[in-house]
Amino acid sequence: MTRTTQQLLADRNRLLGPNVSTFYDDPIHVVKGEGVWLWDADGRKYLDCYNNVPHVGHCNERVVEAICRQASTLNTHTRYLHEGILDYVERLTSTLDGALDTAVMTCTGSEANDIALRMAEGMTGKRGIIATDATYHGNTSLVSQLSQSNVPTVGFGLRQYFRFVEAPDSYRNPDPDGTKFAASVSEQIAAHEESGTGFAALVICPYFLNEGFPDHPDGWLKPVAEVVRKAGGLLICDEVQSGFGRTGTHMWAHQKMGIVPDIMTLGKPMGNGHPVGAVVTNTDILATFRKGYRYFNTFGGNPVSCAAAMAVLEELQEKNLVDNAKTVGAYARSRLDQLASKYSVIGNTRGSGLVFGAEMVLNHDDKSPASEFTDRVINAMRHRGIILSKLGRHKNTLKIRPPMPFSIENADLLFDTLDDVLAKTPVTP
Ligand code: PMP
Repeated sequence: MTRTTQQLLADRNRLLGPNVSTFYDDPIHVVKGEGVWLWDADGRKYLDCYNNVPHVGHCNERVVEAICRQASTLNTHTRYLHEGILDYVERLTSTLDGALDTAVMTCTGSEANDIALRMAEGMTGKRGIIATDATYHGNTSLVSQLSQSNVPTVGFGLRQYFRFVEAPDSYRNPDPDGTKFAASVSEQIAAHEESGTGFAALVICPYFLNEGFPDHPDGWLKPVAEVVRKAGGLLICDEVQSGFGRTGTHMWAHQKMGIVPDIMTLGKPMGNGHPVGAVVTNTDILATFRKGYRYFNTFGGNPVSCAAAMAVLEELQEKNLVDNAKTVGAYARSRLDQLASKYSVIGNTRGSGLVFGAEMVLNHDDKSPASEFTDRVINAMRHRGIILSKLGRHKNTLKIRPPMPFSIENADLLFDTLDDVLAKTPVTP
């Protein structure tokens, strides 16, 4: 049965319930993907500049082949012995520093963060968690409490364990060496301690990708890591978005930011669309968690998931995709900066590797957000065949985060089109 867009929307509402989010005023019905391209049901082609799930490209041949090969050989739960999970964890942890050499495999980033918080409670005997006030770490009862903009009205009374610090914002509230951020975390640690909850962990995306990827120099997280450790808490880095070479300079954004977390969580790009995630930590933390709870996950780390995840690591390495992110990312930033000198609505550009974007403002003096304009730009880009999105506290930052094989030629198409759309979109408050 082929449904029209209107029928699809009505049936989504009927079958999946209300309040299910879609992209764009006029959502796209995608039917096919290949590399950095998507096609809709009418055969129209789109340059995907936003999707970090197909990290090594939509329908990547190596990943598809690995999934098919393993699916046609064996797929079962994780209580059997199987080499795939061990080979994968060994290869994954070989990219990490320090003692991060063990892992729990999951199916999603939410599960991974949920486990990370429970590990922190296990290690510290405390429950107080700190996060930024503009983040997202997932949808379980526990981690959904971390989203200030979408706080669940039900959630088993867990709210008391969470405290928030203002998300870093290099454009509106510069903090060049990270000491302001560290001080605000320190305040919330004290508040947790005073309340009797105690401080268990700080959970952050090391590149603050949901917060609008503020422009921070390498090593920026060192002061906050020191504060957390001094207070006896754990540092959890959620690398669901920032990992696997996205920033172009390092495999993991925490490496770029000069720290080694106690726990790192993974998801989204890990299986190129196949649902697989992980919690990576040291042997002490993992042993303590496992002593307190015999964790089992039917699908987490099954042979097919591990084959998909391994193929992603192989593809990243063999095609030098982290270097590609660095080169193409630098080129993209230069094109974005050229647009910034042409259009005053662009208040600030930032990013590293293949995550970059621009903050839109009505004027440069008070930096009042051009949120509605940004919305019109991304919708106009969608109609010109370019997929990107917006984010940030004011929803006025273009977020561009294409699959890692993105090329200079792709960047040219993106910016030529953006130039034209900016020229044709009136800036009104
Ligand atoms: N952490 C971050 C930083 C995310 O962006 C997301 C998903 N947007 C999650 C965790 C949750 O991952 P999942 O949807 O796989 O549960």
